[in-house]
Amino acid sequence: MTDSTLHIVGGGMAGSEAAWQAAQSGVRVVIHEMRPNIKTFAHQTDKLGEMVCSNSFRSDDHEQNAVGLLHWEMLQAGSLVMQTGYAHRLPAGGALAVDREAFSDAITAALASHPNVSISKEEITSLPDSGQWIFATGPLTSDALGAAIQAETGADRLAFFDAIAPIVHADSIDMSKAWLQSRYDKGETEEEQKAYINCPMDRAQYDIFIDALLTADKTEFHEGETAGYFDGCLPIEVMAERGRETLRHGPMKPVGLTNPHAPDVKPHAVVQLRRDNALGTLYNIVGFQTKMKYGAQKSVFTMIPGLEKASFARLGGIHRNTFLNSPTLLDAQMRLRSRPHIRFAGQITGVEGYVESAAMGLLAGRMAAADILGRRLPEVPQDSAHGALIHHITGGAEAKTFQPMNVNFGLFRPVDGLKGGRRGRRDRYKAYTDRAKAAWQTWLAAQASAPHAAQ
Ligand SMILES: Cc1cc2nc3c(=O)[nH]c(=O)nc-3n(C[C@H](O)[C@H](O)[C@H](O)COP(=O)(O)OP(=O)(O)OC[C@H]3O[C@@H](n4cnc5c(N)ncnc54)[C@H](O)[C@@H]3O)c2cc1C
Repeated sequence: MTDSTLHIVGGGMAGSEAAWQAAQSGVRVVIHEMRPNIKTFAHQTDKLGEMVCSNSFRSDDHEQNAVGLLHWEMLQAGSLVMQTGYAHRLPAGGALAVDREAFSDAITAALASHPNVSISKEEITSLPDSGQWIFATGPLTSDALGAAIQAETGADRLAFFDAIAPIVHADSIDMSKAWLQSRYDKGETEEEQKAYINCPMDRAQYDIFIDALLTADKTEFHEGETAGYFDGCLPIEVMAERGRETLRHGPMKPVGLTNPHAPDVKPHAVVQLRRDNALGTLYNIVGFQTKMKYGAQKSVFTMIPGLEKASFARLGGIHRNTFLNSPTLLDAQMRLRSRPHIRFAGQITGVEGYVESAAMGLLAGRMAAADILGRRLPEVPQDSAHGALIHHITGGAEAKTFQPMNVNFGLFRPVDGLKGGRRGRRDRYKAYTDRAKAAWQTWLAAQASAPHAAQ
């Protein structure tokens, strides 16, 4: 093995796409995949690009939906995952659903027959000292490798579970009911003293809310998923089951806050939302990680005063999920700061979903190939869907509260001069996607002289 070989650990969504992109640009690639020798609780086969659960790549609307836009961008960049997805498409309305077996068969065949790719069925258990590497080992990274990564990053920078509180688009919060204030006005600057959005509840509203939590539909953990779960990330509905007052003494405590809309009325409980990105377009509901089903979450959380018309960038969840604190550990090129010959890609970088994972594989594959070939890859444009995601995970997200993220328009820089709120949404989303497409095409064109240009 020479230094001009790219080693990719993990042949899932991200690893397969990274391998394809690098191989298409003329780089020799070895994919190291541990299955079938070492299994995970979710994968069923020894194929590359296995879809572990649903068979959907979600919305295919590239004008009005951020994941649809990601499909479009990937296709423009000659993505193996996306081309194969369309080739094995199943009818599913506006969604891109795929025949999972035909899909992973085709991904495996395309990579196995590529002259620049070889596949080694082995588990990698340590971080290598030299060579060019991409680790794309996913949410179910093997235990031995997880321990090696943790030894490198420190225990608090590699999580084994996500505990995602719902994330709300800031412009959908009703500020005639909610207000900005940090508890006890803590902080040196006005920005810090107003870092939270607060939503007040009176006693009757609180009681109805607790009843709704107790009766809401919940999802179960997958078999084999639960080890170590109760370490300090209790779902909100489990807190409510422990006693009706538990939340009022926990994340919903009403102390240190004064409602400027009714300064003389002491709220019975307060739901707090904390800024989730540097742009200030997204807020997470503090302490509201949950195993409620998505439909139930929407109906329960829109009972909160101020959130009646909330639009959710993502709903909450708790899953087995190995992921890095990427904003502190990775540079803008997804290289591990402490070992720049190693990149990470896919779900382990803190994106969430098949498409997002494959998209981060696409970028990592191109970046690593450019390094090996001694080429300069232009910076990924922040206004593209790929750019919005990579910017979020490597810098835009709040590092302290970092949790995995789907692509969504809340990650995009606002377009000047467009109306906010629900009414302006169609025009706003079209403006985001038009701007993204132009930026992405410019980025691809700048690589046009290279063999891995858009196909
Ligand atoms: C139970 C479960 C259900 C999910 N359901 C969905 C869903 O419905 N829709 C959705 O969009 N996303 C879902 N996800 C998230 C999903 O895992 C990701 O979207 C996507 O598969 C991540 O791609 P990846 O390439 O990062 O990881 P993966 O696709 O998991 O690929 C990682 C690969 O690395 C291999 N590997 C791990 N450790 C090693 C090692 N040490 N050496 C060599 N190989 C190794 C694994 O065997 C695997 O093949 C789910 C995740 C889980 C755990």
